[in-house]
Amino acid sequence: PSIEETLLSAIRTIPDYPKPGILFRDITTLLGNARAFRRAIDELVHPYAGEKVGKIAGIEARGFILGGAIAHQLSAGFVPIRKKGKLPHETVRVAYSLEYGLDEMEMHKDGVAPGEKVILVDDLIATGGTAEAAVKLLRQIGADIVAACFIIDLPDLGGRKKLEALNVPVRTLIAFD
Ligand code: 5GP
Repeated sequence: PSIEETLLSAIRTIPDYPKPGILFRDITTLLGNARAFRRAIDELVHPYAGEKVGKIAGIEARGFILGGAIAHQLSAGFVPIRKKGKLPHETVRVAYSLEYGLDEMEMHKDGVAPGEKVILVDDLIATGGTAEAAVKLLRQIGADIVAACFIIDLPDLGGRKKLEALNVPVRTLIAFD
């Protein structure tokens, strides 16, 4: 089967979660499928094999799971981007808007060295607000963002364009309308 077929059959769609009218794309079934998980990781990383990427930055929480596997595959380090208040050392912080209200995310100041090449990872990009905030954090500490990678794109919500407007190349494997 093609990569699209493999991913389509491994991703579960949950109607009305977390609230009525939302179709939630559940990747836990993909993570639980050994073949689909490996294929997704291999497919995401292959353009970056020769890139000398220093760190993979994963967005809490599903970006941690994918990011760990990607870091291993590219022989890179891993750095977590977390909701505020979870990291023990000195951090940089950025506010971003959710559907209702604001939230903040953080990363360790010394998580990435100035000029270090970084790939940003999450499971899905929708409006791009979460990833945009992560890009701001990474750039605050001088990271050189090679790309942002996601398994799933919801192109109607415009996230890819938002990141591309910030000069961040975006890699996604499958799109849902
Ligand atoms: P955005 O900030 O791009 O609007 O939303 C993306 C963030 O919300 C990501 O961190 C992603 O994990 C989460 N998210 C939003 N909708 C879904 C969904 O349908 N499935 C999954 N797995 N994550 C989602």
